[in-house]
Amino acid sequence: MRAGVTDDSSVNPKDSIGIATLWMTENCPTYPFMKMNSFSATIGSLIIAAALTSGCATSKNATCSSPAKSHCGLKGDAPAVSLTAPPTQAVQQAMTPAEALASLKSGNARFVAGKPAHRDLTAERAATAAGQYPLAVVLSCIDSRTSSELIFDQGIGDSFNARIAGNVLNDDILGSMEFACKAAGAKLIAVVGHTKCGAVKGACAGVEMGNLTGLLAKIKPAESAVPASDDKGSYTHVDAVAQENVRLVMVQIKERSPILAGLIREGKVGLVGGMYDLESGKVKFLE
Ligand SMILES: [Zn+2]
Repeated sequence: MRAGVTDDSSVNPKDSIGIATLWMTENCPTYPFMKMNSFSATIGSLIIAAALTSGCATSKNATCSSPAKSHCGLKGDAPAVSLTAPPTQAVQQAMTPAEALASLKSGNARFVAGKPAHRDLTAERAATAAGQYPLAVVLSCIDSRTSSELIFDQGIGDSFNARIAGNVLNDDILGSMEFACKAAGAKLIAVVGHTKCGAVKGACAGVEMGNLTGLLAKIKPAESAVPASDDKGSYTHVDAVAQENVRLVMVQIKERSPILAGLIREGKVGLVGGMYDLESGKVKFLE
């Protein structure tokens, strides 16, 4: 390099990002969640406490909706900033199963209201590249209208998701749940069926086709447990069977996985069932 000539390599290409990060960190106590993967649990807890005690309504994964935004430094025409962020290890470890359920409920409420959290998926991808600390594992149907990330307004790194027609259980899904909860620290297992489920309707109608036959057979116990109605093809009946199927899958999870049963018994992991309504968008939890 010649004397007096600036070495371009000395310019950190991340400086602009760093400056932006600093600005937002200084102006909103919740923004640091986006960078907390490298923070210690203690620092993370302090930041959470600071955010809460400052009166900020924004908690992890929530959009800052406080009318008094001055505490966040979002003044005037400041650019919109995503205040959502994936759970960090500290957040995951501090969360209870009940709080994880509350997070799903609040996400579904945002979805129903048509007010999903503003997300910066690029930032979320960056924040989770080195590790993931999801709060929950959701088992739901493959139905194209029931993506759990959408109906619970979840972002990258927020939840594990297993999807299979009729949200039935098998050994591989059980193993996935064991990984999610025992190895990766998720605090909640949610089994979510839905109204007008084609798989359940097929099971009720006795459909047999290729490999689908064996899958639908897993729903048969639920159908047998629901009193026969005059119109077994009606969605009233199908929805009742779908809900019973959710309940039976919850029982099977505890019966077939000593690992999960132990975590649930010890209160380290919660287990909940729910039914998603295709029309309203609401998830009714079976509590
Ligand atoms: Zn379905």
